[in-house]
Amino acid sequence: MGGVSTERSAALFDRARRVSPGGVNSPVRAFKAVGGTPRFMEQGEGAWLTDVDGNRYVDFVGSWGPMLLGHAHPAVIDAVQQAVSRGTSFGTPAEPEVRLAEAIVDRTSAEEVRLVSSGTEATMSALRLARGFTGRDRVVKFAGCYHGHVDALLAEAGSGIVTLGIPGTPGVPAHVTADTIVLPYNDVAAVEAAFAEYGQDIACIITEAAPGNMGLVPPLPGFNAALSRIAHEHGALLISDEVMTGFRAARSGHWELDGKVEGWAPDLVTFGKVMGGGFPAAAFGGRREIMEQLAPAGPVYQAGTLSGNPVATTAGLTTLELATPELYENLLATSHEVRRLVSDALTAAGVTHQIQAAGTMFSVMWGVEDAVTDFAGAQRQDTAAFAAFFTSMLDQGVYLPPSAFETWFVSAAHDEEALSTLAAALPTAAAAAARAVDGRP
Ligand SMILES: *Cc1c(COP(=O)(O)O)cnc(C)c1O
Repeated sequence: MGGVSTERSAALFDRARRVSPGGVNSPVRAFKAVGGTPRFMEQGEGAWLTDVDGNRYVDFVGSWGPMLLGHAHPAVIDAVQQAVSRGTSFGTPAEPEVRLAEAIVDRTSAEEVRLVSSGTEATMSALRLARGFTGRDRVVKFAGCYHGHVDALLAEAGSGIVTLGIPGTPGVPAHVTADTIVLPYNDVAAVEAAFAEYGQDIACIITEAAPGNMGLVPPLPGFNAALSRIAHEHGALLISDEVMTGFRAARSGHWELDGKVEGWAPDLVTFGKVMGGGFPAAAFGGRREIMEQLAPAGPVYQAGTLSGNPVATTAGLTTLELATPELYENLLATSHEVRRLVSDALTAAGVTHQIQAAGTMFSVMWGVEDAVTDFAGAQRQDTAAFAAFFTSMLDQGVYLPPSAFETWFVSAAHDEEALSTLAAALPTAAAAAARAVDGRP
């Protein structure tokens, strides 16, 4: 500590800012919520990242979810190297994409899938398919749920409970979000009210299977089942966005923890992150009857030059093949251990917090007394306490998501050494958080 050099990261960030907006290719990487210099990583191995100044970090971001096995898993690297040597893209069907689709269909509720290159593309396409299938335009989404940067889903709630969505960013025309109804999460009555008013025009409800983009806010028991029921009562579809939770919260995704147990399935589902094994691969899938409406089987158009890319699908397939039930048992145990260590340290330092989880995923809600159930609750967090904690952890070699509204990710490579590095850093960081709560420097 004290001797953490960030000279090379800072120099690269200066160069980056000259040639790209904000110096990054995705906003949260810029550390705006926490301050300081974003670290330019050079290498990943297992649970560890090394930056360009030679600093090592235990990684709790995992590339925002994909690195289920840890960085540079030898079997994935080997499979990818072999795939690359056979050619990187053919623009034809190829065997790896069939095997990946089979692996996904095998362990999830989807009967058929279409492979794409990003989670955004998956949700955008699922939305189009739901509209095409139902012949309706309106869509219900929940405040605080992120579904990628799809125009129609970058919407904020209007002033009433059931109002038309207003654009959440410049560049999205008001008419594009006018068909988006934004409701508070975990509020069945609000969903009932929206369907009472607009039911005949609603194509679908889209929801994160367990929201992880406002911090982790698990669905209340029965919430997802209620969404399925209400949608079906009105001839609409339920799209479950499992881009983050798929093959991560549990082996089949979050559905394994609710729908599979309760006996219902979403009509459409989206995947990404883990299923690409660190490469750009994602998917949307669902009931055969709906999926068969997609071109070339049906009339709803969707396509992609690099969709089902042989290198990306090989990485994803190898990752899923190694993701055994035992791996998830260990991942869950690691996740519990990390949560316990963090919670104990914060409690000892007198920092009010909640740890919220869905399967192996979790996040810390800072400065809140009760469980957070929606976006309004998540926004009441003490972000200053988090920023102080984050900066101290970073200085001590622990890399956390640089925002209080993000989920923490563990990998199968988080071992004793990784956890003891975390444990050693926690008291100092918790004390820094406590000082920030008190408004002291
Ligand atoms: C990450 C994410 C997306 C977007 O995926 P990208 O690959 O970043 O486009 C969509 N939905 C959820 C729930 C996500 O977490």
